[in-house]
Amino acid sequence: MAPPRERKLAIVGYRSVGKSSITLQFVENQFVESYDPTIENTFTRQIRLGNQDYVLHIVDTAGQDEYSLFPDSYALDIHGYILVYSVTSTKSFEVVKVIHEKLLDMIGRIKIPLVLVGNKTDLHMERKVTTEMGRNLAKNWEATFYETSAKHNLDVQSIFKGIITEVEKQDGNAPEE
Ligand code: GDP
Ligand code: MG
Repeated sequence: MAPPRERKLAIVGYRSVGKSSITLQFVENQFVESYDPTIENTFTRQIRLGNQDYVLHIVDTAGQDEYSLFPDSYALDIHGYILVYSVTSTKSFEVVKVIHEKLLDMIGRIKIPLVLVGNKTDLHMERKVTTEMGRNLAKNWEATFYETSAKHNLDVQSIFKGIITEVEKQDGNAPEE
């Protein structure tokens, strides 16, 4: 049995899109109605993909907007990024594009392991960003796209499996299915 691989992921996006909710749903299997939006925390969870165990360190960031700069330290040891917007917020969709640009600038690589996530799909009546819009953006980036509901725990696991797959691809060792 191969030793577990440690991978550090950052979850980024505009405020209130559900970054902490996604993280807590994944790590603690619970939905928290209100979580302090200013807290930045790192959570750890182990998962298995194929025959490989992964220890995931997930940095749940306090959020960004179009003006906030990433601390350079982010680039140092992050293996992959989870970029989140809310399907109920056009603003958050615009912000995720700016964050993507900034990440590319900061990291200085055309391709970085990332996935795009449209969260809050359970709020059907409030939807502003269509599935198609999200899918097209991800296609431009050559990234995998997910729509999720952290509240109903829909496709939250898929995000993390998806990002590990991306990270491993770029490391040149695809995980076994
Ligand atoms: P963050 O600022 O990006 O970390 O966002 P939070 O995780 O704190 O969530 C912001 C608000 O949106 C909270 O009131 C959450 O309960 C709510 N929320 C998060 N995800 C969902 C979701 O999938 N569906 C619904 N209906 N509400 C959500
Ligand atoms: Mg938060």
